[in-house]
Amino acid sequence: MRVSEIFYSLQGEGFLAGLPSVFVRLAGCPLRCRWCDTKYGWDEKAGAHYSIAKIVRTVQRWPCKFVVITGGEPMINSDLPELVQKLKAIGKHITIETAGIVFIPDLACDLMSISPKLSNSTPTEPELAAVHEDSRLDMAVLHGLIDNYKYQLKFVTDSQADLPEIQQTTEKIGNVDTEKVMLMPQAKTRDELLAKSPMVAEMCKRTGFAFCNRLQVLLWNNQRGT
Ligand code: SF4
Repeated sequence: MRVSEIFYSLQGEGFLAGLPSVFVRLAGCPLRCRWCDTKYGWDEKAGAHYSIAKIVRTVQRWPCKFVVITGGEPMINSDLPELVQKLKAIGKHITIETAGIVFIPDLACDLMSISPKLSNSTPTEPELAAVHEDSRLDMAVLHGLIDNYKYQLKFVTDSQADLPEIQQTTEKIGNVDTEKVMLMPQAKTRDELLAKSPMVAEMCKRTGFAFCNRLQVLLWNNQRGT
């Protein structure tokens, strides 16, 4: 598998925020979001080749139950089911962070952390935008993921204008438990996060959606490896 990085930090986002976790960042993502904070992981050939056994050995360097498989987009990797199975076999709690563009059945995953991409993520370059718009939202895939896995839905929120689109998207997916929906400020720096958080907090108070922090930005200003 192509691995961008493996590191130990705190889960920064979602309902498990604050838990010490090992992150396995797999390379490759077709979406090219405008504000992506892991562009170094876009290329499927980015990073280094690891066997599944080497990933498992590396994860075991840290005495930590929680493992987050992220990207890039980990669900495009055909070896993902075997990796998840091997990590589960050594007692790990597995979160998969995905944009929700591919469905894989029967993963031994404890939490599917889904971040469906809104139109605020569309790249400005026309060629990239076309690919992005073609694949960023697949309602059947999203529906399949929430029906088959324990999940959370995180929407990257740039402004108040995003709210109707967030509500329409959850309605279109159907069967969404609104207590599992989170709004996360779009922010790559600590200053941006602090500036946008009050607005997103007010949106959460109005709608009942949960506020999603970004501890990796707040604590370490989004340095690589955090
Ligand atoms: S889906 Fe995630 S990894 Fe892929 S481009 Fe968008 S933000 Fe970056």
